[in-house]
This record gives sequence, structure tokens and C-alpha cells, in this order.
Amino acid sequence: MRPSRRAHIHMRLAQRTPKQETMVTRRPNIVIAISIVLASAMLAIAVWVLAQMRDDALRRAQDSVYNVSLLIERDVSRNLEIYDLSLRAVIDGLKQPGVLGLSPALRQMVLFDGSASAKDLGSILVTDELGNVVFDSLGSPPRHLNLADRDYFKVQRDSPNVGLYVSHPFVPKSKSGERSIALSRRITRADGSFGGVVLGTMRLTYFQRLFDGMNLGAGGSMALMLSDGTMLMRRPYDPKIIGINLTGTANYSRFAEQPSGDFFGTAAIDSVERWYAFRHIDMYPLILDVALSTRDIYVGWRHRAWIIGSLIAALDATLIAFAVLLTQQLRRRLAAEEELRQLARTDGLTGLNNRRSFEERADEEWRRAQRNGWALSMLLIDVDSFKGFNDLYGHSAGDDALIAVARSIAQSVRRPGDTAARYGGEEFAVLLPDTDLFGALRIAEKIRAAVQALGLRHVASTHHTLTVCLGVACTEGQAFATSRALVNAADEALYAAKDAGRNRVVRYGERIEARRERRATVSGK
Ligand code: GH3
Ligand code: MG
Ligand code: MG
Repeated sequence: MRPSRRAHIHMRLAQRTPKQETMVTRRPNIVIAISIVLASAMLAIAVWVLAQMRDDALRRAQDSVYNVSLLIERDVSRNLEIYDLSLRAVIDGLKQPGVLGLSPALRQMVLFDGSASAKDLGSILVTDELGNVVFDSLGSPPRHLNLADRDYFKVQRDSPNVGLYVSHPFVPKSKSGERSIALSRRITRADGSFGGVVLGTMRLTYFQRLFDGMNLGAGGSMALMLSDGTMLMRRPYDPKIIGINLTGTANYSRFAEQPSGDFFGTAAIDSVERWYAFRHIDMYPLILDVALSTRDIYVGWRHRAWIIGSLIAALDATLIAFAVLLTQQLRRRLAAEEELRQLARTDGLTGLNNRRSFEERADEEWRRAQRNGWALSMLLIDVDSFKGFNDLYGHSAGDDALIAVARSIAQSVRRPGDTAARYGGEEFAVLLPDTDLFGALRIAEKIRAAVQALGLRHVASTHHTLTVCLGVACTEGQAFATSRALVNAADEALYAAKDAGRNRVVRYGERIEARRERRATVSGK
């Protein structure tokens, strides 16, 4: 057996095993997938946090609106109650025997205990059954007024069971002329007949001041109305709104439905969307609503949402951009590695497999053939008198000849499993899996004929053209211990072909004897 004449090509990359590769280096798209999952997770968390913050903003608004409405309701109902007590005291006083006979000054003190002198409360008046003022908390004798045309008089006159009546807003007939409402109660005589009314006036500025004292934000609103929808006071204040009737508006319809509640609604007056809390003031025919504008509720949240949202979007974009860049780098690296691996496998001159990759394939195919009991054939090819060709035509022409020979071999070996390789300088090898001796000899002959048919002139050769010798070995009917033994057998056959005169195909076992005899003859001489 000839020693291996070609040094092995040591290529680090070619030695690299698939196990060393990670999932990421094999499938770069995973990096993008992971980054998209991470980015989505960050986005989801941000959306969740922002939704929570938005809920919190609304809850805070609801609390503050609720608190303000409670505060105003308490204040209003307490003042009305005190005022009502004063009216009842007047009625009670009128019933006392002897009161009407007291001196005017003393009678004033008995009837009007002074509570009506509080700020924003006007005067307490008593009328007879015709509406003429008979007693006046502001002085005696009373002013000359007839109130028979006022609603607070007519209602009490026409129905005995009204109790406390809260009037529509009006401009008092007396001096100040400031818009007011009146509370009235009926005076019922001992025989049950109508004896006039006692009424107390109350300036609407009381409600205005009460409203102004609350902090509700720029777009907030508050309104106090009679149960029938008549507007008594509103913030923001607009004198034109006082007294209008809100019946038929969407918001009023909701106020009328329940004793209290809250909702998002749009005011008919200014078309601003707000969060409303409303309540019917206990014991009185009044409805109060307090509202914060949706814009005010969410203005802080919106600002923060913008900041958080843009930060997360920027982070997500950066993350994905990095992933894309990394993926591109990985792809480029994989492509470069693949190219190197390809280079490490091929022979630079002919483009066939090199010896190293051929031997790997030979080992693989050997094991497969052993497992499956298939035949495996091996051809070794050597160019005849190539040294002489080089000497005659030059090294460069020699290279071209090798390329042409390689092409002839490649064209003769067409099955997908077949492997052709440059085995050494002017030696080639062909591995034919699942091919019996007959098939292998046919292909060998085809190669031999193809090279001869190239017609490359070689005057020093006995055939006058460039030719090759082929040694064929097949596992069919022959027992080889290793793949190497199969190669050696083919090599031996190749030498037999050389000995037999070149440009021929010899199978392992054929003419071997002749060669040994010849050697023996030569050594014997
Ligand atoms: P034989 O018929 O017995 O095979 O004779 P040979 O001259 O072909 O055998 P030998 O092994 O003596 O010579 C091989 C020659 O092949 C020697 C070397 O100059 C030539 N050779 C090897 N590799 C290359 C190569 O890559 N390019 C060229 N041009 N010549 C090469
Ligand atoms: Mg040789
Ligand atoms: Mg040779």
C-alpha cells in the first residue's frame, strides 16, 4: 500500500460539529421572535398600568364630586330648615291669643325672632287671604304690597296640603331687586279656611357664593334646580340661565329618574362632557348636580400617558431594531460560515470534493452499506504519464488538463448519492453507494472513454492522447474489514491497470497475479 502522499487539510471550521451550534445561531429569526414577545409584554404592561391610572383618575374625580355635592346639600338643607323653622314660628306666633293686640314693636319681636336677618335672607312677610302684606319682618307698618300674583301665594291658596313651598326665581317688588326665591307656608284659620301665607325670601346670591367656594377645576359645573327643572343657580354663573327650564334635556331626565346617582353626560347649556353626581336635596323639592369636566379629570393622566407611552414605544422600537440588526449579523455570519465550510470541502482547482470530505463521505457510506447490506463500489482514477504531460506542455496546461478530466468524471457520475473527489495531485476517486461490481465497471469504463474522448494531445503517451487508469473495488462478493481496506483494494487494482499498459479499467482481484509474477520476475533478475 502506498503511503498517503497528500497532507490532510486542517480546517478548524470543517471540524466544527453541529452540536456546538445553538438554537439561536441556527435560526436567527428566533431573535426577532423573542424581541417581539418582549416588546409586546412591555406594551401590555404599559397599557395595563395606564388603564389603572385612568381608573384611578376617574375614581378620584368621583370622590371629589361626591364630597362637594354632599357638602352643598348639607349647607342648603340646613339653611332651608332654619328658615322653615322661622316661618313655622311666625305661624305659631300668630295663633297665640293676644299677639295681634301687642304693640307693633313687641309684636315684631315675638313674630320675627331675628333669624331672617342673616345674610342673603330677605324678609319674612305675612299676607292676608287676598295677598296683601300685613306683617313685615323689616318694619312696621309693613310695606304696601300685594303678592296675590306670586306662585308661592297661589299654590298655598289653591291647595291646603302643600306644606313648605319653594318658589320659582323672581325679582322682588321691593327695593333691592335682587333675584330671589321664596319659601312659603299656608296660614290656616281655625275653621280650616285659607288665611293667607307666611313667606321668607332668599337671595340667589347665597347659592352663588356657596358654589364659588368649591374647587372644581376649570371645566367643572354645579347647578341647583327645582324638581320641575327650573334652574335656580349654576356655576359657571350666567344670569341668562337662571329661571330657564331644563325639562327634556338628557341630563335632567337622568336627574329625575333616581334620588341620586352619577354618570358621564354632556350639558345642554355648554355642550361640555362631564362626570355628573346628582342628588335630590332631602325633604325639599330641589335637585343639585356637581360635575367635573372629562378633560379636567384626565388631563394629568393624559400627560403621563403620553410620556409613558412614548418611552415604551421608543424602547420597543429600539429592542426590535437591535434584534433585526443582530439577526442580520447572525445571518451574515452563518452565510460566511457556510461558504467557508463549502470551501473547506472542495478542491480549489477542480471544484470537486477534496480528499478530506471524500473520506468522511466514504466512512458514512461504508457504515450505511454495512447496516443495510447494500453493495458499495469505489473507483480510484490516476492520469497516465502525467509527469510527462507537465514536462511537455507545462504546468499550467497540466492544470487545465486536470480540470477537464475532473469535468469528465463529474459528468459520468450523475446519481445523487455518488461522490467524486480529487484524491491527490492527478488522482481522483469516485464513491458509488448501492452499486454492484457490474454497475461500477460500467461507470469506470464510461469515465475512461470520456477522458480519452477529450482528445488532449500527449505525444509522449503510447495512446498519443491523455488517458486515465481506473481501479475498481466493490463490496459485492468480497469481504473488506474497513472502508480503508476497500480503498486499498481499488488502489491495488489501479496499479494493476498501470502495469497492464495504462488507459484501462481493472477490478480488484483481476490480473493481480500477473503483477505479482512480474514483480517476482523483476526482483529475480
Ligand atoms: P503514471 O502513468 O505511472 O501515473 O505516471 P505519472 O507521471 O502520472 O505519475 P507520477 O506520480 O510520477 O507523476 C504525477 C505527476 O503529476 C507529478 C506532478 O508533477 C503532477 N502533478 C501533481 N499535481 C499536479 C497539479 O496540481 N497540477 C499539475 N499541472 N501537475 C500535477
Ligand atoms: Mg499518480
Ligand atoms: Mg499518474
